[in-house]
Amino acid sequence: MSRLDSHLAAALERVTRAGQRRTLRATTLLPGGRIERAGRTMIDFSSNDYLGLVRHPLLAERSAQWAARDGAGSGASRLVTGTSAAHLALEARIAAFKHCEAALIFASGWQANAAVIPALLAAIPGTAVFTDRLIHASMHAGVAMAGVRQHRFRHNDLDHLEALLADKGADAPARLILTESVFSMDGDRADMHRLAAIAERHDAALFVDEAHATGVLGPQGRGLSALVPGKVDLVMGTFSKALGGFGAYVAGSRVLIDYLVNAASGFIFTTAPPPAVLGAVDAALDLLPGMDAERAHLAALGEHLRSGLGGMGLDHGASSTQIVPAMIGAEDAAMALSARLEEAGFLASAIRPPTVPPGTSRLRLALRAGHSHEDIDTLLAAIEAHR
Ligand SMILES: *Cc1c(COP(=O)(O)O)cnc(C)c1O
Repeated sequence: MSRLDSHLAAALERVTRAGQRRTLRATTLLPGGRIERAGRTMIDFSSNDYLGLVRHPLLAERSAQWAARDGAGSGASRLVTGTSAAHLALEARIAAFKHCEAALIFASGWQANAAVIPALLAAIPGTAVFTDRLIHASMHAGVAMAGVRQHRFRHNDLDHLEALLADKGADAPARLILTESVFSMDGDRADMHRLAAIAERHDAALFVDEAHATGVLGPQGRGLSALVPGKVDLVMGTFSKALGGFGAYVAGSRVLIDYLVNAASGFIFTTAPPPAVLGAVDAALDLLPGMDAERAHLAALGEHLRSGLGGMGLDHGASSTQIVPAMIGAEDAAMALSARLEEAGFLASAIRPPTVPPGTSRLRLALRAGHSHEDIDTLLAAIEAHR
């Protein structure tokens, strides 16, 4: 019993009364787009293991090999003794994969965004920051940590971005645009060509979070930044989604990476990722270029799911990727549908405020390469039966 418990219990009670209490439940990811929870195997439409690499034997094998060879931990932070030859080699591989001069590994995507953004903003005080309304919580954390007020543009509304740049950016010493290439809750894409042109026109730096595009979209899974070579100043992505492992990277110019090594708190003051984590990423990078068939299958599953939802009158927003929202609207209706689907053998998480705007509660359906077209048909039939 801690001295804080009575205060914390009261705070939790407020969350519960608002119907927003969340709890942890144990699950095991299985191959074939399946998942196990409470002894039951379900079809999984909720995890981000898009390419099925979480259970790929090569990742587990190399992870075990590298741990056996180099140990379970890394011993210290990167700038002390935590940098191994494996870290440097992997960073060179990531830089080559992203066609950038250099790359830096972080413990997680959240940590990368929360560490890199304040470091950048500290270098140029007064920088005007422009953010898509739907950017990830970790980017908001980074901007908040910098103590900078952000200029938010309506989601994917690049006319609005341009108007804000002209209005709020012209007199600033620098301008920084923060966005995602694939949005995590909507599965739609940013228009990279137009973003790149706008950044150029307004002399703004472009920071793109590729958490959901890395491995899945762009040539050989290099992400959507690959569509505009040399135009994105800083690309961030994770190893924890399509790559099936854990951790994240930031890629860009050599100067950018050298600066982050010297300035990003969440890089400097944290222990280096351990060998097992690096081994899995290394194996995933071996596999990615050869996974065009899986990427094409995911795209086809997405089309199939969207056309089925549309056929029953369910809005799927502007999704054009492996993430497909089925818009329900009211929070309790989305929660109830998700619960009925779970009883019927489908894990399809409801996403509600504050993660998404009020009135846009939805099922966030994430596709996995292990799914079959029949899996999509049975899901669609279950949604139709239970909504
Ligand atoms: C998942 C995610 C992150 C965080 O990455 P982790 O490695 O899970 O910490 C950052 N940005 C976006 C857009 C994400 O979806």
